This record gives sequence, structure tokens and C-alpha cells, in this order.
Amino acid sequence: LTETELTAVRADFPLLARTLRDGRPLVYLDSGATSQKPDPVLDAEQDFYLQRNAAVHRGAHQLAEEATEAFEQARAKVAALVGADEDEIVWTSGATAAINLVAYAFSNATAGRGGAEAARFVLAPGDEIVVTEAEHHANLVPWQELAARTGAVLRWLDVDDDGRIRVDQADDVIGDRTRIVAFTHVSNVTGAITPVSPLVARAHAVGAVVVLDACQSVPHMPVDLHALGVDFAAFSGHKMLGPTGVGALYGRRELLHAMPPVTTGGSMVEVVTMTDTTYAPPPQRFEAGTQPVAQAVAMGAAADYLRELGMEGVLAHERALAAELLQIRDVPGVRIIGPTDASDRLAVVSFVVDGVHAHDVGQVLDDAGIAVRVGHHCAQPLHRRFGVAATARASASVYTTSDEVAAFRESLAGVRTFFGLS
Ligand code: PMP
Repeated sequence: LTETELTAVRADFPLLARTLRDGRPLVYLDSGATSQKPDPVLDAEQDFYLQRNAAVHRGAHQLAEEATEAFEQARAKVAALVGADEDEIVWTSGATAAINLVAYAFSNATAGRGGAEAARFVLAPGDEIVVTEAEHHANLVPWQELAARTGAVLRWLDVDDDGRIRVDQADDVIGDRTRIVAFTHVSNVTGAITPVSPLVARAHAVGAVVVLDACQSVPHMPVDLHALGVDFAAFSGHKMLGPTGVGALYGRRELLHAMPPVTTGGSMVEVVTMTDTTYAPPPQRFEAGTQPVAQAVAMGAAADYLRELGMEGVLAHERALAAELLQIRDVPGVRIIGPTDASDRLAVVSFVVDGVHAHDVGQVLDDAGIAVRVGHHCAQPLHRRFGVAATARASASVYTTSDEVAAFRESLAGVRTFFGLS
């Protein structure tokens, strides 16, 4: 993004203009947890309630028609951002719900009623689910639970000393019994970008389904799910400039058609008798009940906002910020968890400061108006891999500036002295 574009982008985010205690400007470096929201997103959500609010896919009145149109257009906007077709996008409440939806489809009791196709979603004891040591708990715990329900075995790819997933282990770990391979596109801790194609190739060679956690990639880089060839992908609205409470599951059309429903009830049926039900085709089959309609509409506006900015430009901007963030490797006592060179990684940098607890690091930065996240970032196994209980994490987004990163580096350089360490 050019200087002028960045200034225009920042002007779109009202929250960035607020000040903190003592009138300090806010330096928001916690976009990996949740992003701020631009006016077009805030306006879309409010406009829906002010002008179009009605139940979708129901009722013959004009308002219901307009609400349905806005809801379905939003689906098309999100699909366009990620290189999918609109009927391959299922609205969920977030990435966590999207991954759980797939995990439950693989073990739920109605599988037998879904016809021969649904048999693809039945796991037998001894079947294998492959994940990685780098996963967010949202892409690990649902698979542990699925394994426990079905007798399947959980296996994983390790992470190397640089924080990268050991793709070289794929041929050993992904084998004939593997039915599901689930991994993150970009780590929310190390920022490392996973090479997707060798994992997809290996998974498909053994007939396994690929589930991609795209939470940290979709907001920050061009993502073309068809080109990547994954079978499912999950991402959240709130990390991509959209609202909380909404997210999406992408499913390859053929698989979504084969997938049995998980949550049942209204809005997902065709014919219901007292004893039997036929289900609507996807995506409606997976959208029982009243959806987060205003939020979906606003997530559509967020997708448009990103597309108008251009994801190549967004990526270039964030790569430059990643390189600047990584300069903290020269601060005495700072250790970065993850790759320290800027290639194949995004602007999410987790680190520890020798002799200072991550929470204290966060406190000192907060005193300077700098918002970072501290803790295990929902990735305890990855932290354990590096022998630390907690890290501090700085993460950027489209609106982050070099000046903000410089302010962060400067404050971080003073942390050890603040605690009387040299
Ligand atoms: N996966 C990754 C990589 C994430 O960063 C997050 C959010 N921290 C999630 C999954 C879960 O997303 P949500 O909490 O929005 O469901």
C-alpha cells in the first residue's frame, strides 16, 4: 500500500483515532486476535438493521426479499474473496464452529441416513486423523474429540526449530489409514505460511480429506481455495475486518453434498413428516435456525473492502511490516518463536524476553499505549515445543504503520532495563 492508500485506510477505521489513558495514541498490534472494523463494515451492519431487517429465506414480503438478497450477496462476496463458488460457503458463527461442524459431520448418528455418499464421513476404529503441532486449539481439540468418539487415531506432523511444520514427515505420517488431514494455513503464533500443495497432494493420494484453518491467511494474503485444492476451509469474520459472531466454512461442492447435517431444525429441510425429513441442499443444509444475518452482511462488506484494496497489495504491506517487526531479534534478551527471516511468513511475531514474564512485557508495552497479546494464544502444544508457557505476540493488519512498529520496537528495547536487567 502506498503512503496515501495507508492514510486513507486508517481514516476508515474510527477506533484507531481514539486515545488511551493519559491521552496516548493507540498502537494496536493485536490484529491476530481480532481486527478493527472499517466504516463500510460498520455501516453495512447498521444499514441492515435500519433498512432491511427481516427473516431470510422466509416470508413473501418485500423486506424479507431484500434481507435474503443482502444475505446471499454477502455469501457471494466472501466466496469471491477466497476463490470459491457461492454455494460452497456455509455461514457459521466463526472458524471454531466451522471446524467443529466438519468434525461432527464425521461422527454423527445421522450418517447412515444420508445415503451412500455420506459413508465417506464415517470413521472406523483405527482410521487416522492427521494434524500438526502448530495448530490453534480450534483445529486440534475437535479432532481429539472426534478420535475419542470413533476410535480413530490422532497423529501429527512436528514443528521444526524454526517453527515450521515438518512437511518432510508427510509421507511417513499420512498413510493408507489417514482419512482427514487438518492443518493451519498460517500459524497464529509463528506467522509461518504452510506449504499447502505437498500436504494436499499426499492427503489426496491416500484418499484423505483436507481441512485448512485459513483464519490467519484470508485477512492477510491472496487465498484461492480452488487453486489450493483443499476440501474444507474455515475462517472468521472478526479477524478479517468483519464482525464477531460470524464465520464461514468452505466445502468443495461434491463433499458438501455428501456431508450429513449436524445441527438440525428449521431452515435446513425440504419435507418434514412426523417420522422423516429430507434435507435442503448445501449450504442451507448446514444452516439450521436463524443465522447471524446482519453479521454475515457485514462480513460480505469486509470481503469487498479487502478485495477493493487488493490482496496482493495487502500481502506486500504485511510482508514489509513483518520484516520490520522481526528486527526485534536484535534487541538484547529477545527470542522470537518462529522463523526470524521474513520469507514465507506474515506479520505475526511471538517472542519471549529473557528474565521477564510475558505478562509483564505486555504490561510495559500497554503503559506505552501498545496493545499486544500475551499468553499461549490457544496453542499450548506449540509453546510446549519451544519450552515456554507464554509469549508476547505483536500482529499487524492492513491499517498498521511502520511508525507503530517502530514505537513497539523502541518500547520493547526498554523492557529489560525497566525490570533492572541489562
Ligand atoms: N484458528 C486460528 C489459526 C486462529 O488464529 C483462531 C483465532 N484465534 C481460530 C482458529 C479460532 O477462531 P474463532 O475464535 O474466531 O472461532
